[in-house]
Amino acid sequence: MDAIEKLQILGPAAADECADDVAADGRHLLAPRTPRDLAKCVSHATLPGGRRIPILKTLVSSACENDCRYCAFRSGRDVRRATFSADELARLSDQLWRHGIVKGIFLSSGLVGGGIHTQDSIIATAELLRRKYHFSGYLHAKIMPGADKAQVAETMRWSDRVSLNLEAPNANRLSTLAPRKGFSADLLQRLRWAHELATGGSSIGRRPSLTTQFVVGAVGESDLELLLTSSYLYRELGLARTYFSGFNPVPGTPLENQPPIQARREHRLYQASFLLRDYAFDVEELPFGSEGDLPLDTDPKLAWAQTHLLESPVEVNAAERHLLLRVPGIGPTTADRIVQERRKGRLTDVSDLRRLGIVVQRAMPFVLLDGHTAARQLSFWTAGTPLGSS
Ligand code: SF4
Repeated sequence: MDAIEKLQILGPAAADECADDVAADGRHLLAPRTPRDLAKCVSHATLPGGRRIPILKTLVSSACENDCRYCAFRSGRDVRRATFSADELARLSDQLWRHGIVKGIFLSSGLVGGGIHTQDSIIATAELLRRKYHFSGYLHAKIMPGADKAQVAETMRWSDRVSLNLEAPNANRLSTLAPRKGFSADLLQRLRWAHELATGGSSIGRRPSLTTQFVVGAVGESDLELLLTSSYLYRELGLARTYFSGFNPVPGTPLENQPPIQARREHRLYQASFLLRDYAFDVEELPFGSEGDLPLDTDPKLAWAQTHLLESPVEVNAAERHLLLRVPGIGPTTADRIVQERRKGRLTDVSDLRRLGIVVQRAMPFVLLDGHTAARQLSFWTAGTPLGSS
């Protein structure tokens, strides 16, 4: 089997791994100029700052000795498998990079010969890319359950981002989803090491960002459980992002008869996790129902504002940044713009807010402009003047 054939097996095998190629609404973004035979191996990642780049997503190996109950690559399942040698994968990645087909690489793997051996394969590939092929593009590498701390450091040394999939929000749920993985000892401990290495003044050189991924909806976990763990990861371990991968049953696995989740659940989880990460919300403030799930039909920030801000709207000319962030239609960037603009003069008109990039239709019910209900201005505008005409 040549390298391209292997890639055609191993690239699509990595499709369920999130590498920033999933928009907040769960859509998978497609690479527009990819050779047809590699179309399933290349997707776009959005880097911090918003730049989008095409990345090669692949596994080092789709063989796996583990038996996670949802996974297409669990041992014993009848599926075509392939394995790259480190040099084969590094060389192929380098060629795709030099031809401008990709600007980044995402490396993951099934478990072969234990976590330490598998991590060695990922490290060897990453090191070859950086040292032998002088690859200077974006590199995202997985940390395997069972990898040791020195390997975590070595993986970080070559990477712009490292990630380890917790898969479930706690030990109890993980025991049903992936019975041979230990939540604290095998998984969480490695995220803690990565955080220590990134913040503790070690000599690894790079400071890669850190992410994780949950499988959502396979074993009955609630949104509350997922978001409690996300909150801990953001606050205590400095994760850049927690990904939510909606469960889809795979034939020939123990969970094959389990229904898939509604795509909107992923979307609400992303919205809520951004409230925790960027908007200083606490988990307890999110609008969970009695079963601990978010309502599917309402944006969680809007639901919070309808309960808390309708009776006491936020004065745009006086509110502190953290309060501005509570208003639907105002995000971190537009909150900063409001604070800056207020230094120059008062904001008195809906057009002032629109000029700053605020989504006025969403914000209006919840704000005052110089003591006046802005919603009234908006209804005047809507009735008499085309929106966006000034
Ligand atoms: S370790 Fe589990 S999730 Fe990862 S490839 Fe193997 S069976 Fe799948």
